[in-house]
Amino acid sequence: MAAMWQCQGVTSTSIGAVRQGSLRELNLAVVLRRIAAADRPPSRADLAAATGLTRATVSAVVDDLIAGRLVAEAEPAPRTGAGRPARGLVLAADGPAGLGLEVNVDYLAACVVDLTGTVRHHLVRRADLRPVSPADALDRLAALAAEARAAAVREGLTLAGATLAVPGLVGDGGLVRLAPNLGWRDVDVPALLAGHPLAEPVAGIPPLVVDNEANLAALGELHAGPPGSASFLHVSGEIGIGAGIVLDGVLYRGARGWSGEIGHLPVDPRGRPCRCGGQGCLERYAGQEAILAAAGLAGAELPADTAATRLADLAGAGDPAALTALADAGTALGIAVAGVVNLLDLDTVVLGGGYAPLAPWLSPPVVAEVSRRVLTAAWSPVTVRPAALGAQSAAVGGAASVVRRIVDRPVGWLARSG
Ligand SMILES: [Zn+2]
Repeated sequence: MAAMWQCQGVTSTSIGAVRQGSLRELNLAVVLRRIAAADRPPSRADLAAATGLTRATVSAVVDDLIAGRLVAEAEPAPRTGAGRPARGLVLAADGPAGLGLEVNVDYLAACVVDLTGTVRHHLVRRADLRPVSPADALDRLAALAAEARAAAVREGLTLAGATLAVPGLVGDGGLVRLAPNLGWRDVDVPALLAGHPLAEPVAGIPPLVVDNEANLAALGELHAGPPGSASFLHVSGEIGIGAGIVLDGVLYRGARGWSGEIGHLPVDPRGRPCRCGGQGCLERYAGQEAILAAAGLAGAELPADTAATRLADLAGAGDPAALTALADAGTALGIAVAGVVNLLDLDTVVLGGGYAPLAPWLSPPVVAEVSRRVLTAAWSPVTVRPAALGAQSAAVGGAASVVRRIVDRPVGWLARSG
């Protein structure tokens, strides 16, 4: 969890001239972020020392956060000497929560994450959504979201915002410009979901954010993956190949929010033509269709996770064509990944989406190419591992991004809860 929350280091001296309302807003955010980022529950005195705020100010701010169900007092530590032990402070598990949603080619998902980062509910419904209209797909998603919301409310949680992951390019205002594998083009998702309230209105928290699934899957991995990898590349292998780039614990989106199109990095400049208009793109060698064709399964109409399971079954049984197809795909993937690692100095590469179940066969050739091509790999090897959350990380990442907004600006939530 600690890697997810970055303290911005605002101190009392740097905000001395700010008017009173904003000062309270800043103090609430500074104290809440400190509690969220702490390795062990800090006391009020610890928080005063860490923020430069007075003990009286910290106490008043903490009282507001406790009253607003954002912070709770931890169980007291065992007595070690004279006097009353100070109570540590932790994020509250029974206050606001985030709703993460996902529409993908062959499933819908809804996930609830509380303020502590715990996944409280995760519902997945299998369905082939390619023949379904966007409006019908989103109606089904709204029904699943209502189930998740009812479950959250039964546990005393309040959904304070929703994030929807889609496998495509998302423009301003949640307009899905293109989701090729769903067959969506210029779909106004917020308009289609307008009749379905997903969360309670909270000032400063958008009721619905639509984002690319590779970005949110990377955030999910940051949230749930093992500690220590705050700068990594998360590669999602489906029919297309998308990547989420996390630098120092923050998702790097690019100038227009469209970073991570690793599927169109050339791995053979004079190679196979690609539907993007280029030649020799990674997707033509390590995308799901290319792997299936090389394994002798060309033309099989398989949903992404079924295709990955089928390939994993064949490779596990020693099928020579499947093993060769995965080795070649892994080599192409390793060439592209090595370029990214050289450029950005990342220490970890996470294989997610359809790549997660294939990691036993893809990882060795990826590691081989990275070791051969990354200049610094001899001194500091790059870790290549499957995603901790497998193919379902985008919904978790979406829910966690809502929680992050509350921690960054708690005043909106506190105004709502009175
Ligand atoms: Zn291309």
